[in-house]
Amino acid sequence: MLLKVENLKKYFPVAKTFIERLLTREERYVRAVDGISFHIEEGEVFSLVGESGSGKTTTGKVVLRLIEPTSGRVIFQGRDITSLGKKELRLMRRHMQIIYQDPYASLNPRMRVGEAIMDPLLIHKIAEGREAKEMVLEMLEKVGLTPPETFFNSYPAYLSGGQRQRVAIARAMITRPKLVVADEPVSMIDVSLRASILDLMMDLRKEFGVAYLFITHDLAVAKYISDRIAIMYLGKIVELGRTKVLFKNPLHPYTKALLSAIPVPTPGKRKERLRLKGEIPSAIDIPPGCRFHPRCPMSFEPCNKEEPELMEVEPGHFVACHLHT
Ligand code: SF4
Repeated sequence: MLLKVENLKKYFPVAKTFIERLLTREERYVRAVDGISFHIEEGEVFSLVGESGSGKTTTGKVVLRLIEPTSGRVIFQGRDITSLGKKELRLMRRHMQIIYQDPYASLNPRMRVGEAIMDPLLIHKIAEGREAKEMVLEMLEKVGLTPPETFFNSYPAYLSGGQRQRVAIARAMITRPKLVVADEPVSMIDVSLRASILDLMMDLRKEFGVAYLFITHDLAVAKYISDRIAIMYLGKIVELGRTKVLFKNPLHPYTKALLSAIPVPTPGKRKERLRLKGEIPSAIDIPPGCRFHPRCPMSFEPCNKEEPELMEVEPGHFVACHLHT
């Protein structure tokens, strides 16, 4: 096992107004990640899927310890990274990289592409000089930016969104990490280029044996690349299983609603859309009982009082819903 996340929580304190400070001492929190557990195997693609506000991006950042967890453990290659000191964490970072959503903001506009990709090699003292440059040219070729010498000397401003995301991927892969957190890596890229970026990521996975924690709001994208998928809602995992199983036999009403929203590619064929009531609530005022109950079309007696646990209903398939306890 490469990564194990145990009961991870991340709460952000809510700033109080002057009046609120006078009236109450009670602190309020955004419970962005509210006690989730999962694992990722070596070379596996594991996707976290959910609407905006479900806590998936915060989970990715806490897993890399780009932000500190409130509680819980993140065990990477057998070591709890939540307890590592700064120096040890820096060493560990070589093996854990991130690809951000926005290819326009993730690259320094004043750095040439070659320098940007070479930077992690220098930071982690993997290579320098001629050797580092050779490694960068080779990586540029692998990510499809050819001729590599031309791209090495280019500035990000002269590249398209798809090319910039290829640079970001090259930068993440240059240290040969074991885990890459990919946070919506294709959502800001032209639709026509998305499949080619996903295919590139899968090719690199095959070549380097890297695992991905893939974060997306798009279940169709997750289906295309994932071995397993976890569905998140308001800071919790509500369903988790192998991709095929989840698509063939979704159990949680939220998963069913997300699946019903995926367009059918066959012309003339329609499927019934399961529409949800309202919007995802604030993570400050989480509904009691099942946090999905105000929107759930299947809600019944215990749902607004008792919070369902994530239970294994068949080997490797977990769901948190009173309909399946
Ligand atoms: Fe719906 Fe109840 Fe299941 Fe929650 S526990 S998803 S409200 S049926």
